[in-house]
Amino acid sequence: MTSLSLPLEIAGAASDDNPSSDLLGVYKRAPMRFVRGEGVELIDDNGKRYLDFVSGIGVNALGYGDSELEAALANALKSGLIHVSNLYRNDPAEELAATLVELSFASKVFFCNSGAEANEGAFKFVRKWARASGNAAKTEIVALRGGFHGRLFASLAATDRPSYRSPFRPLAGGFSICERDLRDLETALDQETVAAVIVEPVQGEGGVRVLDVGFLAGLRELTRERNVALIFDEIQCGLGRTGHLFAYERVNVIPDILTLAKPIAGGLPMGAVLMTDDIASAMNPGEHGTTFGGGPLVAAVAKHVVGRLSNPGLLAAVRENGEWMRERLDELVGKSDRIRTVRGVGMMWGIDVVEPAADIVRRAWGQGLLLLTAGEHTLRLLPPLVITRDDLGRGVAMLEEAIGA
Ligand SMILES: *Cc1c(COP(=O)(O)O)cnc(C)c1O
Repeated sequence: MTSLSLPLEIAGAASDDNPSSDLLGVYKRAPMRFVRGEGVELIDDNGKRYLDFVSGIGVNALGYGDSELEAALANALKSGLIHVSNLYRNDPAEELAATLVELSFASKVFFCNSGAEANEGAFKFVRKWARASGNAAKTEIVALRGGFHGRLFASLAATDRPSYRSPFRPLAGGFSICERDLRDLETALDQETVAAVIVEPVQGEGGVRVLDVGFLAGLRELTRERNVALIFDEIQCGLGRTGHLFAYERVNVIPDILTLAKPIAGGLPMGAVLMTDDIASAMNPGEHGTTFGGGPLVAAVAKHVVGRLSNPGLLAAVRENGEWMRERLDELVGKSDRIRTVRGVGMMWGIDVVEPAADIVRRAWGQGLLLLTAGEHTLRLLPPLVITRDDLGRGVAMLEEAIGA
């Protein structure tokens, strides 16, 4: 395609619709081009600094230019092994799996390359498990209102976002979406036909909804009664984001299977499925696979990242800074009629605003602050977990300005 040269103001407002880009137009990209990262800031090609409350969508938990992470990556490269395939054993993958098993409820781990891929794997594992437990009709997977589980066919069928779903029908069969209500779930979770229910303990894309402890405990009880597997999708809320290594620890509700991705390998692509022995024992050689999953380079880096994110000092700081954020954001709600309400925990916050959230995100760029949305009228904050209170305060001040509070 020929490229047009546009005046700067127009280029600045353009996205992938911009004919000068050959990237498929599935993202409405911001005009900034980032060329460097330092700590909790990104620096664009004009040298402008942005405080990052996005973290590459919850990926860059350790921020940018972290010297220990860089050393782990450089060290992993020294073996000469980036990839060996899953036909052979490799130490970093086995060590990472052992670490995750040690730190969690799980007995076995499967590595893959993204969040959607982790959920798709989990769906296969629970179906196999439900079949193995005797009932051929026990195949259905139930997801919740407001849930997001990925963009592939099965994960999309479990995602409650009409605009993501409707252009691609028919979606994968065997999925349904239920209200976040125990009464409705009592009807939906039919013991004879339902294999699993998938839940984000803190819904991310769906508006940052911290699911109630009582609801999650009730769901655990119900799924146990009905012999339905409970899948926690902690791709966004797991690995320290709530101030606990796993979001399930905050509510003390233990799932049967749990998916991870976003921050796990410090920005390298990786997903993981953690599961009980019971579910793992239903799977046999040849029944699932992936070429790249758990390669030695990515696994070595993930081992470093999981070690850092499970540090009690870091988790305590996330909890304390999270409570401090709650106070700051509650103050904003009190001061401004342009904010309706605030929800969140740890370093994961949603702010319902009167204006379209995307307009505020755009104004914040001017201030030098990066924000996310989660729906049309919700701003979402996912700062790096290593952020200091000073930087949080600086961000909240810019946020206040951008909202016009
Ligand atoms: C981002 C996300 C996914 C999808 O992960 P990808 O790596 O983009 O496939 C799934 N579930 C949740 C909760 C997420 O936040």
